[in-house]
Amino acid sequence: MVELDSSTDVVIIGGGIIGCATAYRLARRGMAVTLVDKGPIGYEQSTRNWGWVHQQVRYPHLIPLAVASVRIWQGLAEELDADVGWAQGGNISLGFDDVDLAEFEMWGQDARNAGLETTVLTSDQVAEVVPGMTGRWTGALHLPTDGQADPSLVTTAFADAAKRHGAHVITDCAVTAIDTAGGAVTGVLTERGPIHASTVICAAGAWSGRLTRPLGVRFPQRAVRSTVVRTEPVAPVTDATGWADGFTFRQDRAGRFVLAGGEEAIYDVDLGLFRDMRWFLPVAWKNRRWLRMRIGRPLFRDLAALVPGSSARRSFWQRHRQIDPPANAKAVRATLAAFHRAFPALAGVGIESAWAGNIDSTPDQAPIIGPADGGPTGLLIATGFSGHGFALGPAGGQLAADLVLGDEPLVDPHPFRHARFAERDVPAVNAHRR
Ligand SMILES: Cc1cc2nc3c(=O)[nH]c(=O)nc-3n(C[C@H](O)[C@H](O)[C@H](O)COP(=O)(O)OP(=O)(O)OC[C@H]3O[C@@H](n4cnc5c(N)ncnc54)[C@H](O)[C@@H]3O)c2cc1C
Repeated sequence: MVELDSSTDVVIIGGGIIGCATAYRLARRGMAVTLVDKGPIGYEQSTRNWGWVHQQVRYPHLIPLAVASVRIWQGLAEELDADVGWAQGGNISLGFDDVDLAEFEMWGQDARNAGLETTVLTSDQVAEVVPGMTGRWTGALHLPTDGQADPSLVTTAFADAAKRHGAHVITDCAVTAIDTAGGAVTGVLTERGPIHASTVICAAGAWSGRLTRPLGVRFPQRAVRSTVVRTEPVAPVTDATGWADGFTFRQDRAGRFVLAGGEEAIYDVDLGLFRDMRWFLPVAWKNRRWLRMRIGRPLFRDLAALVPGSSARRSFWQRHRQIDPPANAKAVRATLAAFHRAFPALAGVGIESAWAGNIDSTPDQAPIIGPADGGPTGLLIATGFSGHGFALGPAGGQLAADLVLGDEPLVDPHPFRHARFAERDVPAVNAHRR
């Protein structure tokens, strides 16, 4: 077991891709860094995602960070001296009607403004990118510089590289509180004792708000549960990732298709939903066709933890050390059926595994990266990556590190400032667009 430092320069809460990428950047630039995770590295979103590294069909306020991230991805294996499963096979987004094509046109303009070479493909050209796929699309948007990587490799690769640069990585140890004195951060309290530091970065994914709220630092953040299916391996078909008819796909290096039902996501009802209702109800209403509200354990968990002295409150983090939400059986069946319809030659291919993950999202689908507005000096937030954190992670980590060090930021951090919620300066988005 790694010894807990009693003091360091920077404590990072959370060993997902964001925390680990930030730890790596800071350690590489000579900072003493301790990263603490309540469970294993990358156990929550960062190993459960689809593995897409996409710039395509992003909101304009996210494009510069996405482009900067792809630049880092291209050299990441060499930089971290580790296999990250990187392949730059492009992304294809199928359009089925005039609304889709109008959106492609709009996005194409945003993309070209950002220097991205995106094109609209004909049906024959789609068949060249994804041979054997059949369907009723009328066109497709294609961005050849998008890529994919292996979520089971990347976060650990960042953590290992951070360690080689002197960072301490502590797992299975929850941070129970962020400590302050005189309006400044003094460190964190953990299950294994305190760690003193003048800078704390909260990169705790869906749990970030729970850690910052006691300090009066609030932001709207929802967890959307989403199911992923992985097929048995088949011969190579495509190295592009894609939005197809009723499902999304990526074929990994082992030949397995990683699929998700493009039409299903679940808002787990918890106390946060009531707290942040004014932010999320408009998004939920817009996406009512595919979002489902579900009352279950998360609400009871939050209610039980309100009771003073209850064991649910005392041992909250022990009870939520490793979150492994069940895959939705209906979504699994629907996704596989849509895949079989689109690839008739693969209709006999079965499922190797299925899982689910909680995507932490903000109302404008953009992360919060930077100082906590109105919070103690030395507290930074790097969270809320809203279904894009795998792709954006390498750049998000670098931007967070730039802001800690006061260096020239990788991209303009303004769209990601925490203060945008208090200022009500939040771009309106449709949560379906990624
Ligand atoms: C099903 C699914 C599909 C997705 N697909 C894609 C995709 O294709 N492309 C893409 O770009 N993004 C995708 N995403 C989103 C992406 O995975 C996330 O945005 C990204 O992983 C977020 O990283 P993170 O480090 O912020 O959070 P996480 O990976 O959730 O890490 C947070 C960490 O904080 C730790 N933690 C929490 N509380 C505490 C505490 N009190 N003490 C110590 N540690 C704590 C947790 O244990 C966890 O390890 C997907 C997500 C899901 C769930």
